[in-house]
Amino acid sequence: MLRKTLIRFLRNIQKSKEIGKKDFYILHRNIYVQTKFIVILGSVLSGLGKGVVTSSIMKILSFYGYKVLPVKFDGYLNYDCGTMNPYRHGEVFVLDDKSEVDMDFGMYERFLGKNLTGELSITGGKIFSEIIEKERRGDYLGNDVQIIPHLTDLIIEKIEKIAKRYELDVMVIEVGGTVGDIENSYFIEAMRQLALKHKTVFVDLTYIPKLDAVGEQKTKPTQYAFKTIMGSGIMPNYILCRSSEPLSEKARSKIALYTNLDKKRILDDSDLATIYELPIHLLEQGFDKLIIEDLELEKKEFNKQAFEKWKSIVERIKEPSKRVKIAIVGKYVELKDAYISVKEALNHAGAKLDCGVDIKWIESEDLEKGDLSILKDVDGIIVPGGFGKRGIEGKINAIRFARENKIPYLGLCLGMQLMVVEYARNVCGLEGANSTEFNPKTKYNVIDLMPSQKGIKNKGGTMRLGSWKCEIVDKDSIAYRSYKKRFVYERHRHRYEFNNKYRKLLKENGLKISALTPDKRLVEMVEWRSQFGIGTQAHPELKSKAEEPAPLFVSFLDAAISRKK
Ligand code: GLN
Repeated sequence: MLRKTLIRFLRNIQKSKEIGKKDFYILHRNIYVQTKFIVILGSVLSGLGKGVVTSSIMKILSFYGYKVLPVKFDGYLNYDCGTMNPYRHGEVFVLDDKSEVDMDFGMYERFLGKNLTGELSITGGKIFSEIIEKERRGDYLGNDVQIIPHLTDLIIEKIEKIAKRYELDVMVIEVGGTVGDIENSYFIEAMRQLALKHKTVFVDLTYIPKLDAVGEQKTKPTQYAFKTIMGSGIMPNYILCRSSEPLSEKARSKIALYTNLDKKRILDDSDLATIYELPIHLLEQGFDKLIIEDLELEKKEFNKQAFEKWKSIVERIKEPSKRVKIAIVGKYVELKDAYISVKEALNHAGAKLDCGVDIKWIESEDLEKGDLSILKDVDGIIVPGGFGKRGIEGKINAIRFARENKIPYLGLCLGMQLMVVEYARNVCGLEGANSTEFNPKTKYNVIDLMPSQKGIKNKGGTMRLGSWKCEIVDKDSIAYRSYKKRFVYERHRHRYEFNNKYRKLLKENGLKISALTPDKRLVEMVEWRSQFGIGTQAHPELKSKAEEPAPLFVSFLDAAISRKK
């Protein structure tokens, strides 16, 4: 009531022109926007899929039309993910604004259908460097700077600013790591304090193992984890139980008993046929009603149409009318998370074409001895992005195999560069052609360091990153048929590029250059003429959304389906 009166009062003084538009807006925001917070914590072990849970909760809220954004805390001291090894940490995700962030951001974007910004990623590295900068500037003059309150205040200040700027109804905060880790302890403490200031609920994502010997779901790890969370001064409002099989009534009752929570707050998050089903599964358990009530959100109508659309995507992923087999030839294939965006982009395209995708993960080094028979039964081949020499020759062999056997090919960043190398070697006869990344002394450096990269010493955040405009220069191309427009924006992450010295020669030998940067300086896409084969310097997989698949993946999959027929 008070809020409404204040807003009416504000409108009146705005009408009388006593305050300007900008001031009105700031005041309006301060009175009107009261963001509520949902904090997702992980317990027992890592890798339970907090990103999928966070995304699903946001999706549910967006079905109601609430304005929602995620924030992710990561305790490591790296400034961002850019300098991490995908083999250990999973894929490095890149946003439009050049930020190199945790792969969970990929999940948020795929579910929400939005392009997010780097400020939503708050790492230990960023927080510590900012606080030291503030201290040097004299912001804390006379004080000893401490984790509590200075660091925790800074964290809260940051998320409050974001919540205000975007006028969020709800912010969903995912705390990376597991409760009990030293790394994320100050983030968790900040969340305890946040709950003192703002309406906040906590979700604990836990793991329920099942021991084969006893055939029973065990809740003890969850009970201990709950105590650890309580020890931080936080009482979770919901417990989401990850398990291989649906949560048994017995396990649910036991957890409820030990945590003082009502049974309806202990939710099942057992394995589903596809991750995109989780919002539906949580809705079926009445999670939406609970959270709206707990957060005292303004009542809004559930958008049935949007929900049905999502459901139909999920159904097509679960039960497609046809299937194809796609080989992904990479060097980090043992850790599937390293190529998660490629995998999900295939899923999205598959949902659109009503086609299931069976991925055959192939370790590129295994293809170096010349035996490529493993590729014989596939309907399409992808060489994804990558860095460093290991496995390069195996990838080149795979590309040659695709070209010579007319198997649809999609090259992503490194996969495009190697498509050029293969063409130079095997069609143009430039023996030993290579990228200078792998052989700095090659006679034919068809791929070379971008001039803008020369002299750069620092490794963090210095590649050609983020969203770049690209012009499709040939209308009779796979590129144009896929995007159906002249200018497209895709995300990039690379230091090397097609060497313009070889443009003429490669073109004369039949390689199609179908897209360039608008200033015509950089080659963005190349194609084979006699069959489906396209390489892009960008990473279109990074912008693929469940409801808006990446165009190149759709046409690639379409070609794979046709070939299979
Ligand atoms: N290593 C190559 C480069 O830096 C390709 C990078 C990538 O695939 N993301 O240009």
